[in-house]
Amino acid sequence: MTVELISVGTEILLGNIVNTNAAYLAEQCAGLGLSCFYQTVVGDNEGRLAQTLQTALGRADIVILSGGLGPTQDDLTKETAAKVLGRELRMDAHSRERIQEFFNRRKMQPTDNNWKQAMVPEGAIVIDNDNGTAPGIIIEAADKRVILLPGPPGELIPMFETAIRPYLSEAEPGVIYSQTVKLCGIGESKAETIAADLIASQENPTIAPYAKTGEVHLRVTARASVEKEARKLVKPVVKELKNRFGMNVYTTDENVTLEQAVVDLLLANRLTVTTAESCTGGLLSARLTNVPGVSEVFKSGHVTYSNKAKHKLLGVKKPSLDKHGAVSESVAKEMAKGAAVSSKADVAVAVTGIAGPDGGSVVKPVGLVYIACSVRGKVKVKEYNFSGNRSRIRESSVTAALTLMRQCILEYYSEVTFR
Ligand code: ATP
Ligand code: MG
Repeated sequence: MTVELISVGTEILLGNIVNTNAAYLAEQCAGLGLSCFYQTVVGDNEGRLAQTLQTALGRADIVILSGGLGPTQDDLTKETAAKVLGRELRMDAHSRERIQEFFNRRKMQPTDNNWKQAMVPEGAIVIDNDNGTAPGIIIEAADKRVILLPGPPGELIPMFETAIRPYLSEAEPGVIYSQTVKLCGIGESKAETIAADLIASQENPTIAPYAKTGEVHLRVTARASVEKEARKLVKPVVKELKNRFGMNVYTTDENVTLEQAVVDLLLANRLTVTTAESCTGGLLSARLTNVPGVSEVFKSGHVTYSNKAKHKLLGVKKPSLDKHGAVSESVAKEMAKGAAVSSKADVAVAVTGIAGPDGGSVVKPVGLVYIACSVRGKVKVKEYNFSGNRSRIRESSVTAALTLMRQCILEYYSEVTFR
């Protein structure tokens, strides 16, 4: 089955509000196995809305409209949908009562136009709104379904969760099962190239790549009549992806984050860890300490922003700082070594770079970052050139540091060598 989304509101067209409803609904529908090929934003205009709805009905089985169910003149979604589908609007006694109760509870008087919200197209299914006055509406017409939802996300989301999701799951029977193969240390385009033939040829399951900062997630989704069947379809594809991506796969568990995978690796090998951060200013420690149970292995973190602190707290040599500068391979190495010594930790990771927007030069541009990782004295250092603004560069640095830690620990315990 296919679904199409129509977001109604001039505010969205003008960019005054962000269309989070469409993002939410699209994600939910995908999770239900409904294919969404079009989304439209249309202003509060009867003619254009009618035309948009007609077009959508010409190519989708289910059309979900959000917004424009309010009491005012410019709220005309319901009126327009009724007209397009040739339905009269009738007063719905139950909705009228709920609106009255809504105002009673707030010790407020409804205005005349509030009753407009109790008008429902004949034959429609009415969905109670527990967080507002406009009920949701489902109109079933021949082989099409039109669903009208209120615009405020605080009303739309609960209504979707309680009534629309169960309704749609019945419309499209069967179950959806998905598993995510999470990769680190590999770029999005390279990952896509490696999996290109699989992505192109798969219909059930499908493979959808998602790029996150410094990570790529490949989501494998199958539909079947029962979950066991769907799992069976997903399994060989996940296995094939694991074969192709090898050590770049850090987990296939939905709930495991990169920092969790790194902490698990530290725990499994009984390795303690410390950090030495310059441009990330503690973000790496924050990501690591996000993981419950990290206290077993995390000793301390150093935020050494100034050269003085790098020298005093980590023992970075003054000549290294003078000769190579704080953002250099040698200083990154010395930071990691110094942190390992001062914390007596098995693993030490150091980050030094230029997050910008100022401080870059031709030789050392903004985004240049050195990350060093030492595992029991064995040090590896890498140079990175990140792009984006300050916060993105810092975020990329943290993810790269976690990735490098993982690589160094794996290399320490096995014969593998990473690129
Ligand atoms: P109301 O009864 O509040 O008028 P409504 O169903 O008529 O609700 P709209 O008037 O279209 O909805 O929008 C009301 C508010 O809901 C907007 O000001 C905005 O804050 C939010 N909203 C509407 N559409 C969206 C959307 N697509 N994404 C996110 N928020 C939205
Ligand atoms: Mg409104």
